[in-house]
Amino acid sequence: MEVLNNIKSVHNLIVKLKKTGKTIGFVPTMGALHQGHISLVEQSLKENDFTLVSVFINPTQFNNSEDLKKYPITIDNDIEILKKHGADAVYFPKVEDIYPNGLTSEHYEFFGLEMQMEGKFRPGHFDGVATVIRRFFEIVQPLNAYFGEKDFQQLRIVQELVKNFHLPIQIVPVAIKREEDGLAMSSRNVRLTESQRKESPIIYQILLQAKEYLKNHSIEETKKFVEEKFKETSFKLEYFEIADEKNLLPAKEKLKDQKLRAFIAVFADEVRLIDNLDLN
Ligand code: AMP
Repeated sequence: MEVLNNIKSVHNLIVKLKKTGKTIGFVPTMGALHQGHISLVEQSLKENDFTLVSVFINPTQFNNSEDLKKYPITIDNDIEILKKHGADAVYFPKVEDIYPNGLTSEHYEFFGLEMQMEGKFRPGHFDGVATVIRRFFEIVQPLNAYFGEKDFQQLRIVQELVKNFHLPIQIVPVAIKREEDGLAMSSRNVRLTESQRKESPIIYQILLQAKEYLKNHSIEETKKFVEEKFKETSFKLEYFEIADEKNLLPAKEKLKDQKLRAFIAVFADEVRLIDNLDLN
C-alpha cells in the first residue's frame, strides 16, 4: 500500500493510473478508522481497479473547537488496518494541500438541504464538508466515491454537489455499520465513558421503537414519544426529526409513497452522536 503525504505524489499517482486506464475508487475519512470505514473500502475494492483512502480531519467542518481538539487520531493504526484490508493507497493531506489560499470554506447552497438538522445545529458544517469534498474530487478524480449512510445528510449533499457541478463521479451510498449491540460505529465512540458506552445502544433501540410507534401514531406524537424516552436516559437529545429522504424537509404528516427517514443527534456529556433509520 502506498502512503502518500504530499500532493505531488498524489498527482503523479493519479496521472499514472489515468494513463493506464485504471479506475479509481475514493473513500474520504477523518481517520480513527473502524469497521464502518472498512465497509466503504471493501465496496470500493470490489468496484474499482485502485482504491485510495484519504485521512484528513477537516478543520472547517467543525463548528465546535473542543470537538476538533478532541477528535481521535490513530495514524499508525489506520495505516495497519488499511494495509490489512487491501487498500491500494492512503493519502494524509497537509492543510495547505486542501486550503492553498487559507483555512476558509466556500459557501454552498443545495435547495435548503444544508439548512436542516446537522446544518441547523452545526452552522457552517456543510460549507466545510462541500469545500473539502470538492477539493478532494479535483485532486483524486475518482470514478466512484463512497459515503456512509451514517452521515445521511452529508451523503445527500455530496450527491447534490456532484449534480450541481456536473462532476463525472458516481456517489455510492454504503449502509450503516453497527456494533453488535446496535450502536452505529463512529470514531467518536472511543470518547464515551464505560457507562455511556453501556447505555448507548438505547439510541438505536429508541429509533426502532419510534419506527414501530409511527405505524399507529402521527409524526408529532412519535416525536413526543422519542423526547419522553430520552428523558429516561442520561443522554441529551439535540434533535429527533422525521424527514423526507430526498429533500430532508421535516415531514408534517404521513403521505402515501413518501420515503421517510428518522434522524437523531444526542449528547453523551460533550460527545455528540448521530444516527438515522429508514422508516419505510
Ligand atoms: P468520518 O471519518 O466519520 O468522516 O467518516 C468517513 C466516511 O465513513 C463517511 O462517508 C461516513 O459516513 C462513513 N462512516 C462512518 N461511520 C460509518 C458507519 N458506522 N457505517 C457506515 N459508514 C460509516
